[in-house]
Amino acid sequence: MREIVIASGKGGTGKTFIASNLTYYISQILGRPCTGVDADAEAPDLALALGDYVEIYSREEVYESRKASIDYDKCNLCMMCQSVCRFYAITIEEDRPVIIEEYCEGCGACGLVCPTEAITYRTVRTGYIIYGVTRHGARIVTSDLEVSGRNTGHLVYLAREKAKQVGNVEYIVIDAAPGIGCPVISSIVGANLLIICVEPTPQSFNGCCRLINVADTVKIPYRVIINKYDLNREFTEKIERELGNNVIGRVPYSREIVKSYADLTPLLATSSTLKRDLEQIMSEIVKVSS
Ligand code: SF4
Ligand code: SF4
Repeated sequence: MREIVIASGKGGTGKTFIASNLTYYISQILGRPCTGVDADAEAPDLALALGDYVEIYSREEVYESRKASIDYDKCNLCMMCQSVCRFYAITIEEDRPVIIEEYCEGCGACGLVCPTEAITYRTVRTGYIIYGVTRHGARIVTSDLEVSGRNTGHLVYLAREKAKQVGNVEYIVIDAAPGIGCPVISSIVGANLLIICVEPTPQSFNGCCRLINVADTVKIPYRVIINKYDLNREFTEKIERELGNNVIGRVPYSREIVKSYADLTPLLATSSTLKRDLEQIMSEIVKVSS
């Protein structure tokens, strides 16, 4: 089984476009058993890019977040809890501390300083792991974070594990969250290949370099795709000079891509003039991952 992660150091650089087309390419064009994992739990849209779910096989709730609550019968109104809360999750109303649940990270600091043991914690739903099949025939596992849920990366871990359990799987394509935070590390560790999507801008290239540092740290091979390369050819050439053979493809800015995305259809399922070039990039990704 091969796990291929699609990531970007910054949001909006086209990683879901690449992840959805790669999932489609492996499962529908190569005909190999492949499951996509949406690991961008805060804003999942991989299933949508593949036509949206037409059948959901399972929807599991995940409980791992904690929220503080105050027993006012025990509270002596010392307000020490408010003074230690780094997340501004305790406010004062009518001279007593009140927890704002949406801000509470469940860190436990308030309970540690409370002199009367008035603070307790309850476990709340973090989100869901959803598994189903989309209109374009792709099997997708989605990690879906609850509003104000704690995005520790565990949800991503659970989504990856689910993908390994859903029958015959030869390839898993992981659409990671943007950035280099905990959910991204959780997507990358143990994978076989990292594909970094970058646009020809200094901001995007900076994010790409940060991800390369992560890949080097966790010792995972990486390759880079330059998206919308024609919007700044000079900067594209600079990226190619700096990253050499690690750049395995260029994707132009195109209304056809925008349209396919808006139509919830992977470009490879259309008659686009860009299809052949994109197939070559997908083929190269599969080859490098083997
Ligand atoms: S658990 Fe942490 S975040 Fe929540 S109210 Fe207490 S100190 Fe604030
Ligand atoms: S630290 Fe405990 S006793 Fe003091 S105000 Fe907060 S809940 Fe009440």
